[in-house]
Amino acid sequence: MLTKDEIGRNLSLIEERIAAACKRAGRDRNEVTLIAVSKMNPVEAVVAAHECGIDTFGENKVQELCGKIEAIGVPLRWHLIGHLQTNKVKYIAGKVVMIHSVDSLKLAEVIDKESEKAGVVTDILLEINIAGEESKYGIEPSETEALARSISPLKHVRICGLMTVAPETDEPENNRPYFRQMRELSVDIASKNIDNISMNVLSMGMTGDFEIAVEEGATHVRVGTGIFGARDYSK
Ligand SMILES: *Cc1c(COP(=O)(O)O)cnc(C)c1O
Repeated sequence: MLTKDEIGRNLSLIEERIAAACKRAGRDRNEVTLIAVSKMNPVEAVVAAHECGIDTFGENKVQELCGKIEAIGVPLRWHLIGHLQTNKVKYIAGKVVMIHSVDSLKLAEVIDKESEKAGVVTDILLEINIAGEESKYGIEPSETEALARSISPLKHVRICGLMTVAPETDEPENNRPYFRQMRELSVDIASKNIDNISMNVLSMGMTGDFEIAVEEGATHVRVGTGIFGARDYSK
């Protein structure tokens, strides 16, 4: 794990780069939320980032998320950003500010049911496989409107926008067209005026490409490696 000083320096750098990207795009810095993706990093790393002023974190696995919520006494703003199985929803209903990875009506129905039990309305995003990659979760862009309409009647979930995981690339510019397509899709869905849904959130951009994503309209960037260092997949 990086030291608190290193995490703090990384955060300052990321912050500068987000601010510069906002400036280039003529956007207000407040339009972009930085989600610190702490997956595979220890609780101490989350605490260190929190002490550096971060209160919004992302995790991609339910068990790891719940473990961290329990271990950390202070309330933080947690986003579930990874694929979610229906049988795990009950563990996180009421504990997360947003679920980024909804890609089926069935999953939305389970989130709806568990949210009702927990006495909350859960904010969700529809995950889009924007580049049509075989290996990726998410729906095809063309399926977005139909899925939004089918989820719309559910009372305990609220679609707030769209999320994507863009292709891995050494050249962030390569992902600009995908981010632009996400933005266009979001505007298109918003224009349909479907009940109970808004398109205010566009969750896209990671360590390798978040500046391009901000330039193309991201409201939430999910940065892990750039803050916490490389993850150790050997464990
Ligand atoms: C791990 C992960 C991230 C962060 O990736 P980095 O490249 O480390 O910034 C963002 N989004 C999702 C869905 C992830 O699983």
